[in-house]
Amino acid sequence: MNAPRFRIAPSPTGFFHVGGARTALYNWALAKRLGGTFVLRIEDTDAERNRPEWNQGIIDALAWIGIHADDPTFEGPYFQSSYAEQHVAEARRLFDTGAAYYCDMTPDDIQARAKAEGVTGYGGWSRDRGLGPAAGRVLRFRVPPGATVVRDLVRGDVTFDNATIEDFVLLRGNGSPMFLLANVVDDMSMRISHVIRAEEHLPNTPKQQMLWEALGHEPPVWAHVPLLVNEQRKKISKRRDKVALESYRDEGYLAEAMINYLMTLGWSPGEQEIQPWSAMQDTFALEDVAKSPAFFDLKKLAAFNGEYIRAMTPEQFVAAAEPWVAQWREAHPGHVWNQVWFLAMAPFVQQRATVLSEAPGVVDFLMLAEPQFDEPSLAKAWATDDAAEVLAETIAAFERCDWTRDAMKEAFDPIADAHGMKPGKAQAPIRVAITGRTVGPPLYEAMELLGRDETLRRLRSIPGSVHTG
Ligand code: GLU
Repeated sequence: MNAPRFRIAPSPTGFFHVGGARTALYNWALAKRLGGTFVLRIEDTDAERNRPEWNQGIIDALAWIGIHADDPTFEGPYFQSSYAEQHVAEARRLFDTGAAYYCDMTPDDIQARAKAEGVTGYGGWSRDRGLGPAAGRVLRFRVPPGATVVRDLVRGDVTFDNATIEDFVLLRGNGSPMFLLANVVDDMSMRISHVIRAEEHLPNTPKQQMLWEALGHEPPVWAHVPLLVNEQRKKISKRRDKVALESYRDEGYLAEAMINYLMTLGWSPGEQEIQPWSAMQDTFALEDVAKSPAFFDLKKLAAFNGEYIRAMTPEQFVAAAEPWVAQWREAHPGHVWNQVWFLAMAPFVQQRATVLSEAPGVVDFLMLAEPQFDEPSLAKAWATDDAAEVLAETIAAFERCDWTRDAMKEAFDPIADAHGMKPGKAQAPIRVAITGRTVGPPLYEAMELLGRDETLRRLRSIPGSVHTG
């Protein structure tokens, strides 16, 4: 048996849809495991929507999820627009054998005729008129009688009554090929053995299968993977949802987490859902893919990402966060990002951040000349009657104690105690003075890094302390 050949056939849109990414991963997993080939064909026949940078965007998006164009399993990219002549030649072959015929009826003609005959759609009216090619005439496929059974590895055998399929157009009136034809001719010439794609193409499949057969080829193995839906169970779309893979990349989702999550949309890797790619590649099977729509659950994706972030070593985390740290540096000229401090705080940041883009903001109070205070946090700092006294006593104690987190804790706890408060609550004005916020990374560690002088300066200059009287 020949090695299987898989493909994805995205149309350039300016972004790479997460559903397309999931389809790509399913194809990639099988191509890798079965020693096959993964073909990238960019279906760029819509000249108006065809920009070179969009093609690069597809290649970059694939690379981010581990599908690299320089991998030996990868073939392409091929561009559909380069094969227009071949599409037309195959269409002519169908005309020559009688499997297709020309039709000069305009959409208005068709509508009028359908209305007169009380039918919907095109009634095959030019089938036997013997028209030849001419400008303005479309070439239609002559759908044979009977039924078409699509053998789909996900959906089982799906039977279509050919009577419900009208004689579809292969070439437009200007001679240009339609999607259904171009897609099949390319799959044939690229010797694609498996067409794994989104469920929304299932209605095209009986037509495409007829084309394969009419052109004298065995149809490929079909597999239509389930739709991705949002919380309202609606198909995710550009208008309603965040569907661009790139936007997740730019927000700081880890590629490994994204890959893992995408794989689980319609397929379960087993009891343990968090799995490395190598394990999923070994076990993924189309037969196990669900038919029902898969919920693209942003909360679950965030949870996956959090797990992957926490599984990193602090050094890996700091390295992965670098692009966002670089953005922080650019946005804060004149401030120095202390990478040693970031590394020291990394384990705590890893506990808190769901995406890498959040990381700088968790610790940047350390790097800024002044923490950024917000009103609600300041209000909480001063919420207890004892806040001013606690702060004053803490300053006095911190002037003297050793500068270690344990010594600071030992100095502070009795103050909280004396005021009848739990340390966490009593800490509010201290925490806000140091970090600007009421929640954040462990305070003593932060103060240890800042040093005694800066800590005391911040404690003395927290806004609102004038009210302490
Ligand atoms: N260009 C089509 C799309 O983007 C490809 C469909 C297919 O995979 O056959 O939806």
